[in-house]
Amino acid sequence: MSSQGLKGIKTIRDFELTGKVLFLRLDLNVPIDEGKITDETRITASLPTIKYALEKGAKIVMASHLGRPKTAADKQYSLEPVAKRLSELLGVEVILFDEPKSDAIKPLLVGLKKNQAILLENVRFEPGETKNDTEFAQVLASYSQVYINDAFGASHRAHATISALPELMKEKGIGFLIEKEIQMLDQLLENPGHPYLAIMGGAKVSDKIAVIEKFMDIVDGFIIGGAMAYTFLKAKGLPVGKSLVETEKLNYAREMIARLEARGKTLLLPVDHMVTTDIASGQGQITTGVQIEEGWMGVDIGPQTIRNFEAAIKEAKTIFWNGPMGVFETQAYSRGTFAIAKALAQNPNTKIVGGGDSAAAAEASGFAEKMTHISTGGGASLEYLQGDKLPGLEVVRQRIRA
Ligand code: AMP
Repeated sequence: MSSQGLKGIKTIRDFELTGKVLFLRLDLNVPIDEGKITDETRITASLPTIKYALEKGAKIVMASHLGRPKTAADKQYSLEPVAKRLSELLGVEVILFDEPKSDAIKPLLVGLKKNQAILLENVRFEPGETKNDTEFAQVLASYSQVYINDAFGASHRAHATISALPELMKEKGIGFLIEKEIQMLDQLLENPGHPYLAIMGGAKVSDKIAVIEKFMDIVDGFIIGGAMAYTFLKAKGLPVGKSLVETEKLNYAREMIARLEARGKTLLLPVDHMVTTDIASGQGQITTGVQIEEGWMGVDIGPQTIRNFEAAIKEAKTIFWNGPMGVFETQAYSRGTFAIAKALAQNPNTKIVGGGDSAAAAEASGFAEKMTHISTGGGASLEYLQGDKLPGLEVVRQRIRA
């Protein structure tokens, strides 16, 4: 396996923190609507590491990105609501320092009290962040003594606070969130229980090809639902109406079906659907079979498909789920996705949910607590599972001499 997991990586427990300036890169990239945080999962997931550092008496400088601001004037991307919420949750004063690229923070750090912590304003307000700029990193390194990355959801990006900064630091490691993410994802790569099932859904085949390829070697079968399924059904020559199809991926789908067959692996596709003529209507009907008529589009898996998928899930010892089975954001088209979440919840074995929309779907289903693990990072978890090296992990790994 190409992943080295946590080998050679120190965790926050390995450092003396008392009185030291700790630069803590977090993923506090939460959805904010008109100044209100609408889902604080990423904040609460970051709390164990922050609390630990506070207990150890570190002088904490937290940093995170938020969205994709074009300039620092893009105030809708300010971390201000996050600073406020962190203060409430931690019971300390969180000072929002709005000049990430300035060492004016130094006097503030000297006088920082035990019941205070600093949060840098959105690091993407500084253009050097996404450019992985060394000059920007040097400013941050000039006042930091220990560097901890706990921003799993950003660790697949070589940005300044993820890559250039720790490159300059001697004392560096990861926090509890990343440690758990890697331990959990490694369960999928190292000695997983069989039957091993990968459930893939969501909008696009092209986003998931690398993961499908990786999983092809390790799983016993795939379940494919969501819009992705229509590319596969069409590749089999079935009519799919106006359902979403990636025409340029039809050959890939055809070839994948053949390879799975040749290797004796199962591929479960929908056998019936919830269809609509107008997705905005919230209306739909169930097809009597696998075919979809002209003018109709598939927006969820149908009842017989749900039963087939449930039966396969029941038998599995390891399950990885990435991508909803339908347009689950619309209640009328959410039945399939939530049924899958329920089936996973009822399976007592290992079930790991990839981040992004799948995490949102698991939450919305009400079964999130029954999962072995729900990743906080969509792109990062997929890249890790497909065997890519995450820049944010590699930079804190001690080079092991041969
Ligand atoms: P992804 O980010 O690739 O996991 O895709 C998630 C999105 O796929 C969700 O917003 C779903 O609404 C959407 N989706 C799932 N199934 C369908 C479908 N049958 N038709 C259109 N969109 C879908």
